[in-house]
Amino acid sequence: MTVEINKNFCSLEDNYLFSKIRAKKRDYEEKHPDQIIINLGVGDVIGALTESAINALKSGIEAYKSVENFKGYPPEQGYPFLREKIVNYYKKFNVNLDIDSIFISDGAKSDLSNIIEIFSDLTALIPTPVYPVYVDTNIIKGNKIKYLECIPENNFLPLPNKQLKGSYLIYLCSPNNPTGAVFSYEDLKKWVDFANSTGSIIIFDSAYEAFIRSGVPHSIFEIEGSENCSIEIASFSKRAGFTGLRLGYTIINRKSKRMNEFALCWARRQATEFNGVSYLIQKAGEATLTELGLAECQSKIDYYLKNAEIIKKVFIDKGFNVYGGTDSPYIWIDCKKDSWEFFDEMLEKYQIVGTAGAGFGKGGEHFYRLSAFALRKDILLAVNRLKK
Ligand SMILES: *Cc1c(COP(=O)(O)O)cnc(C)c1O
Repeated sequence: MTVEINKNFCSLEDNYLFSKIRAKKRDYEEKHPDQIIINLGVGDVIGALTESAINALKSGIEAYKSVENFKGYPPEQGYPFLREKIVNYYKKFNVNLDIDSIFISDGAKSDLSNIIEIFSDLTALIPTPVYPVYVDTNIIKGNKIKYLECIPENNFLPLPNKQLKGSYLIYLCSPNNPTGAVFSYEDLKKWVDFANSTGSIIIFDSAYEAFIRSGVPHSIFEIEGSENCSIEIASFSKRAGFTGLRLGYTIINRKSKRMNEFALCWARRQATEFNGVSYLIQKAGEATLTELGLAECQSKIDYYLKNAEIIKKVFIDKGFNVYGGTDSPYIWIDCKKDSWEFFDEMLEKYQIVGTAGAGFGKGGEHFYRLSAFALRKDILLAVNRLKK
């Protein structure tokens, strides 16, 4: 017997969305070297990092200069100074966490992927369209997947239904990437009740929580009963511009007897396979959760939300059905045709690069995503071209 590859990799969709977009963009640039392309396709933030974070990085480096203050391997669950700030942050939403329920990581993507190691074989319940990581990691693991359709008729927010029998690992992302949809308290309560009554677990991806302006829940732990069935995975990437620095966290409530078993496995998994996030990055993260740091991040997010409002209006004026963009940096446009065809049209006619909805799964066909992570001048340039 020879050593073979994990055949599950062969079941992955072979497109990697962003490389396809890059290739199309490069192709166009080669043919039209004089044209300036506006990139509203990627989900990466723009600079600069906030001043509090920069200052924390600068002063954090001091610790490395002496034997007394030197920082080696960080504590397994992250430095208490950062976890305490996170506990405090959640108090704003009337969520009381204990510090041991928080696990610092190098970002939400890793946690969203690695978390499935702590579960037995299962069926994942995944909305479509969706952030591709949930689907791909379950395929690699060999889990079964059941999809939930996100369509305009359900405001892109699927709810539990009678066809769902048995227990599931349920993935919810609110505010959503790519649709921008956000769950209300009442609808999340339906999922929590479903999870508790079926022995399911909810993985709640709150990467865009800081973009919420409309009074909907920021955390699954705002929902009564969630502490016994939910894991929240959060990130500093979109909230504080940390896509390059790498910082996130996972919350598993240790006070719940059921969830504590998962917390113990996760603690063991992380201690075994992960060696933590550097002191410097955790200091920078802490700084973004001070009063000043939060205000700086919010003003950056306000800027993105204004971008979203500006670009959304143009598409509405052009007669499209447009979703998202209010509690989210993403605008989800019903393009009424094949999404790659629309992608090409936007590139050819307006030199705008977005993301074809099909890249987010079957549920994204006939939709097109624009990101508000851009400079205002580029948003205005895009608007001018679209108006012509
Ligand atoms: C960007 C994003 C993340 C964040 O990932 P990081 O690894 O923390 O940078 C997680 N979930 C969704 C839906 C995202 O769009």
